[in-house]
Order: sequence, then C-alpha cells, then structure tokens
Amino acid sequence: MSTNEREAHYHAMSVEAVLAAVEAHASGLSAPEAARRLSRYGANRLPEPPRRSAILRFLSHFHNFLIYVLLGAAAITAALGHLVDSSVILAVVIANAIIGFIQEGRAEQAMDAIRQMLAPKSSVMRDGERHSIDSASVVPGDIVLLEAGERVPADLRLVEGTGLRIEEAILTGESVPTDKETKPVASGAMIGDRSCMAFSGTLVAGGAGRGVAVATGASTEIGRISGMLSQVETLTTPLVRQMDGFARWLTILILLIGGVLLVYGYFVGHLPFAELFMSVVGLSVAAIPEGLPAVLTITLAVGVQAMARRNAIVRRLPAIETLGSVSVICSDKTGTLTRNEMMVTALASADHIYSIAGDGYAPEGAIRLADADVDPVEHELLLEFARTCALCNDAALHSHDEGWKVVGDPMEGALKALAGKITRQGAAAFADWTRTDTIPFDAKHRYMAVLHHDHEGHAWIHVKGAPERILAMCSVQRTSDGSTHAIDADYWRKRMDDIAAQGQRVLALAARSTAPDHVVLNTADLDGHMVLVGLIGLIDPPRPEAIAAVAECHGAGIGVKMITGDHAGTAAAIARQVGLQHPGKVLTGADLEAMSDAELAAVVVDTDVYARTSPEHKLRLVTALQSHGLTVAMTGDGVNDAPALKRADAGIAMGQKGSEAAKEASDLVLADDNFASIAVAIREGRTVYDNIKKVISWTLPTNAGEATTIITALFLGMALPVTAVQILWVNLITGITLGIALAFEPTEEDTMKRAPRSGKEPLLTGALIWHIILVSALFLAAVFGMYTYAIDKGHAPDLARTIALNTLVVLEIFHLFFIRNIYGTSLTLKAVRGTRVVWICVIAITLAQFAVTYLPPLQQVFGTQPVPLFDGMLIVAVGAVFFAVIEAEKQLRIVFQRTEQSPYS
Ligand code: ATP
Repeated sequence: MSTNEREAHYHAMSVEAVLAAVEAHASGLSAPEAARRLSRYGANRLPEPPRRSAILRFLSHFHNFLIYVLLGAAAITAALGHLVDSSVILAVVIANAIIGFIQEGRAEQAMDAIRQMLAPKSSVMRDGERHSIDSASVVPGDIVLLEAGERVPADLRLVEGTGLRIEEAILTGESVPTDKETKPVASGAMIGDRSCMAFSGTLVAGGAGRGVAVATGASTEIGRISGMLSQVETLTTPLVRQMDGFARWLTILILLIGGVLLVYGYFVGHLPFAELFMSVVGLSVAAIPEGLPAVLTITLAVGVQAMARRNAIVRRLPAIETLGSVSVICSDKTGTLTRNEMMVTALASADHIYSIAGDGYAPEGAIRLADADVDPVEHELLLEFARTCALCNDAALHSHDEGWKVVGDPMEGALKALAGKITRQGAAAFADWTRTDTIPFDAKHRYMAVLHHDHEGHAWIHVKGAPERILAMCSVQRTSDGSTHAIDADYWRKRMDDIAAQGQRVLALAARSTAPDHVVLNTADLDGHMVLVGLIGLIDPPRPEAIAAVAECHGAGIGVKMITGDHAGTAAAIARQVGLQHPGKVLTGADLEAMSDAELAAVVVDTDVYARTSPEHKLRLVTALQSHGLTVAMTGDGVNDAPALKRADAGIAMGQKGSEAAKEASDLVLADDNFASIAVAIREGRTVYDNIKKVISWTLPTNAGEATTIITALFLGMALPVTAVQILWVNLITGITLGIALAFEPTEEDTMKRAPRSGKEPLLTGALIWHIILVSALFLAAVFGMYTYAIDKGHAPDLARTIALNTLVVLEIFHLFFIRNIYGTSLTLKAVRGTRVVWICVIAITLAQFAVTYLPPLQQVFGTQPVPLFDGMLIVAVGAVFFAVIEAEKQLRIVFQRTEQSPYS
C-alpha cells in the first residue's frame, strides 16, 4: 500500500475498494491499531526545512552596517599601532555578536514553542467514536471528519460529503474552491480533477464530510512536491525596522560629523592625526547605537514569551505593537465572554414548560414540570425532543474520571446530555439510527437538518436551529397528546423572549416523518413542511474573569463590543451580565443590512451589542470603527470570519473552537478562547511598546551625551575628559548590562489606566527629542564639571579622566532608574527596589568599574588611576543631583500634560 503506484489510484477506486486496500472501516481504527500504524508510518508531519548552522548564525551578527563601521575603525586603529583600542573595539563587536546570537537562539526557541502550541487538531473516528487528536497522529486508514474552515490533515479518499468545497490553491494554484463528491474519477485525472480526494494542507471552504486517510506525512501530495513551504518568521516589527533604518542613518550622520571633525582638528586645530583619529573613533563608538537592534529583538522575544505564558499566542509579530494601541475590541460571545459550557435548563412545548436538572454534561438528571419530577417515558412529546436532540447532532459525550466531556460543539454536547436524561439511556440514546443525509450547520442559515432511517425502515427528518428560522419552516406544532395544530407564532415569540431575557441561548426543534425511499435531503424538504416540537433554553454563564477584563478594558479607555450570532434578547442579557457600557442598545444583522455605511458609522461607537449577525457583518463593523480612527481588535472562529480578522488591526482567533482558516488569518490566537486573555495581551502589548520606548529613550540620550562630550572637547581644543578607549569600555559594559535590563522591565502600574496610544504616534516624539537634548546637556555639564573640578584640585589628568569616566557610568545608572518609570514617579519604594535583572546589571557594572579603577593591569590598559574616597562619593552625589533634575522635570511635564482622550474613557 505504500508504493506510489497504488496511492496514485485511490481516486479511481470505489470507496469500498479503498477501505479494503488501506484495511480501514467506516467506524474507524481501534486505538491499538492506530498506535501500530503510527509507529510503522511515522508521525503525520512534513520534514522540517534544514536550519542554518550555528556558525553561520553567529557570523550573521557581523553582517550589519554599524558593525562594518566599527570593524573598519578597529582595522585602522590597529594599523596606527593602537592595539589596545583596536582590541577593545573588537571586544565590543564580539560581545555584541555573542549577545545577539544567544538571544536569537532564545527567541527562536520561544517561536518554536509557540508553533507547538498552534499544532493543528483533527477529528477522527476511533473505536466507533469521534475523537479530537493532534493532526500529527493521523495514520493511513483513519476516518477523518472534515468541517468548513479546517485544513485537511492528510490525503483522504472521501467516503461522505455534503456540499463539500475545498480550496486547493497550495497544490493547484486555483483559488476557487473545488466541489467534492465521493464518486471515483478516471485514473489519469490530474490532481485538480480528483474530486473524490481531499489533499493534505488544503482548506475546507464549505460543507462537511469524511474521508479515509490514504497517505500521511511526506507521502502526501504536498509532501512530495515541496517538503514544507518553509515559513520563516523573523523577529521584527515595523517599529524595529524603523529603528534599524534610523540607526543606519544615524551612523552615516556620525561618520560625516567624524569626517568634519577630522578635517577641522587637523587643518584648523593642528592636532596630531593619530590622536585625532582615535578621538573620532571614540566618538563613533560612543554615538553609534550598535547594541540597539539586538536589545529591541530581545524586548520583542520577552514580550512574545510573556504573552504565550498567558495564553495569547502571537502569530504575526507586528501585532505586539498593534495590540498596545488597540482602542476597541469586538468580541464573540459564546466561549469568549461566556464559558461555552452549556446545559439545557428549560424546554418549552406547545402546552408545558419543563425545567431540567443535572450537572455539566452528565446525561442523567430529572425532568420537572411545575416542581414535580415527571417520568419522561410517559410524555410522548419529550421523546421527540430527545430524538431531535440526539440525532441532529455531531458531538459525542465521553465519560472520564473527571466527569463527562464533549468532543465537538458544546451546545450539541448539552443536547446529547438532554437526550440521555429524557430517554434514561445515557450517551447511547438513539445510537441505532443511521443517518442518511445532512444539511450541516452554517452560521449564515443558522440551522442543521438530518435525515435518518431506523431499523424498521422509517425515515425521519429532524431540524434544530435559531427559533425564527425554524418557526418559518413549520406550519404546525405538536402538542403533548401527539396531535398537531396550526402554529401559534405569538405564543412561541413570547416563550422565546422569556428564555432569552435570562441570558439563555434559545434553540427550536422540529421533526417530521418522510417516505422511506427518501435519501437525499434538500432545503425544499424543510420549508413549510416541518412540525415544531418546541424550544430549548441553554445556559452558558459569563466567565467571571471576562467580567473583570471588560472592566479593566473600560478603565484603559478601550471599548468592548459583543458581536454574536445569538438572539438579541440573549445577547443583551449577557451584555448586561458582563458589564458592557450600552447593553440595552442592540443592533441585529437585519438592522445592519438596512443601514448604509455612513449610517452605521454614525451609531457604531455608541452601540455595543450586535446580535444575529453573520460573519460578513463583522467586516462592515471593523470598517465602520476604523473610519473613526480607532484601532480595532476583532475575534473570530469560523472560516467566514477570515476577511474581518484580516481587515482588523489585530485579528484574534480562538485556539480551541477556532477553525484553521480563522487562525491563519489572525495575528493572535487565544489558547483558552478567553476574553480575559485579550486584555492580558493588550497589557503585554502596551508593556512591550513601553519597553521598546524605554530602551530607545535610554540608549539615544546616553549615546548623545557621550558624543557631545567628545565633540565639545575637540571643538574647544581641550584634552578629552574621557579617552576613546575609555568610551569604548563604557559602551562595552553598559551595552551588555544596562540596555538589556530594560527589555525585561515589568508592566508599569498604571499601564491599563491610560488611554490607548494613537497608532500614528511616531517613535521619536517631541518629548523624546527634548529628553535627548536635556540629558546630553546634563551629561556634558557633569562630565566636564567633574573633570575641571579634578584638574583644579590639582589631580593628575589621568585621575581627572578616571573621575570623569566614573561620573559617566554613574549617570548612566541613574538614568536607567529614571527611564524605568516613564509614566509615573521613580521615587516610590517599588521603583527603587527595582527588579532582579536591574540589580544584577547594576552590581555587575559597579564591580566592573571598581576593577577598571583599582586593578593595576586594567589601569594600564585604560590609563586609569585609583579614585580617592571623597571624590568617589562626590561622583555618586553628582549622579543623584542629575537624577533629581530629570525626575523633577518629568513630574512638571506630567502635571502639565494634557491627558489623551479615548471615545471610551
Ligand atoms: P457567538 O457569535 O457569540 O460566538 P455563535 O458563534 O455560537 O455565537 P453562531 O454559531 O453563529 O453563534 O450561532 C448562531 C445561532 O445559530 C445560534 O444562536 C443558534 O440559534 C444557531 N446554532 C448554533 N449552532 C447550531 C448548530 N450546531 N445547529 C443548529 N443551530 C445552531
């Protein structure tokens, strides 16, 4: 069976012949047989593309314009005989590459772990039951169930299909979905014409079906043509790319300034060339932010990991930035704001309202009528409820040690449990009926219909779905005595509103018998012919953490909107329970259709609940919100949600109930489907953006401060207060320690109390430019001041320089503590206590400074001298004054700053 020869002909064989050839059965493989085949055929995975070798990856860290400039400087410095300086420059470059290499490795591990978390699942039949397994465990012979939005996990020969359409662009290049059926085709048919096959990696665009796996892993068509379509995601975002470009231009500018200084110093200042050149090298190393790209990458990697730990998996990295600026979230209701743990609690028939007891999905519990238990077997109509619930159903209930679990749609699981309660046959109720045909559920038509035949040859049609839809199909209703009467629409509407007002999902059931030779189900068999059985009310309580998260979002100036396929009454009740701002104002899909885009845009900001919507409406809502300049996050799960997810600024797919199509269109996947994880992701997004801003706000002024010190000395024709090699030293140690510490900064306290940042906000804001100027000026004053003070005091120039050098490092440390709290004050106990990373860095750098100041071998290399205690204390005092000045300036700015406005604050 493993030869290509035979695989190539499955499409030409009958279903029975294929099942026989792969030794499969319609009820699926047994678990031991599946395990045996898994070890024989291997995991259903495509071979991974080879990775670049470690050496190549390490060398790639030297392939950078900034590094070339530094390497050039090292070469010329060596040629001039300054071997010490040359070695220090090389040490800076190598340290930078090592940090980059290690961090890239960690970042890649983080991304790998995330890819693992996104590993696709498939539904297969095993031992006659439906199971959800990792797609990697699908083996030849497995019966695989396909639904709209799923990726086909293996090459399948279809054995069943209703309206199945599959998009096979990755194999055939054809983006229009192909209609699939089960009839064999000619053996010479091309891939695109093999209409009875579903190929691994293709996407189910509509309908449902099942097929038997005939090839897995590398033996599939996709495995044969390409191996994996390798998707390499590099750790970058628009902001980081912008910074890369900025760093490159800055380098060019610095080189130009260096050139001017060289010419000016040599021809005007008449300074010796070698000394001058060294100063210019010192200037370049001081001013070029060579460590910045690596630190920004680390910041992103830290953010991605933090989000993944909290169930928010970033699929596209730019989303991290976008998440930080989200101003409105459009969320699904079921499963996101609510638990999606459904239970039927009420049944409404034409003449009774029953209440249902029970626990979770356990198919046992009492049926009550007016507070008294009833014997369901005596209530003919209840059996019809049970039959419709059990048969019009694709879910399965399994009993585990921890209780009953659903495989499939939780709502259908709840209906299965109800059928078990009524029939008292547990999960096995009506298992002996055979399904002949199906009209699968579709969010657009909102019902599901099935045609069954029992052992005596009776044929029945059962339908369940949104009540309006089902009522429209029925001309008569069934009463408890078994008779039928004309539909009393007002009665049902009232029942429906009553159930919905309690926040319960309402579903209607209908059934009818049909001719035994009826084998194909069409919509024409339903319309006007069905007999209404009754209504069902299902509770699906809100998630308590979602209620808290909604409040947190409101506090952060972020609007929350609920977009649901559910009934308006149910939606409004749940909206009230989770605390949306305008729960009473509901627009339905029909309302939206009656509105023009302009009319919708006019009401969209103040309307929070959208009910009975179809996926297409989501796209209009995103566009309407974006027309107000809002940054929109939109959740989705179905195949039809993909366009809205793509259009939204941050598309968020559900990890559990989401289809592969939705996940692939999204930027973020919620592993737990929980609204609270969106709030967490936004908080992390804001933190990452803040940290990127902090890294930049620390690096640029520090570099600028060092550079201005050198430039000023050169222009004034003074001796340098800090030598080139000392500047190199400072950059080497601070680059490794202080810069990176900021990448690990935790979330600031008021992060979720601020209005969202405007998506258009530039990185180099006026405030940041001002900060760079201020800090540069203070650095200049302090370093020159301390140098002049030391010279005046009669210290030797080398000691004066050592004092200036230490002043520079102390200023950088104080600047770091200032930058850690860009929005609040740095003068709280918490701010002073810092984080572990910060303190490790501060201790490391202090030890390094002591070493360079007091250890004789290092004194020789760097031309330093031991600093007396008093001067040492003075240096720290200068640092403290510097801190006080910039902190006071920040407080003044905070007081006078206009607070930003959000339409949702
Ligand atoms: P939300 O948008 O809040 O997540 P949802 O996605 O569950 O809600 P849909 O799946 O679009 O909403 O369902 C809309 C309506 O269709 C439901 O209110 C219900 O009446 C009906 N419905 C849902 N699932 C089924 C099903 N499997 N069979 C029949 N009808 C269904």
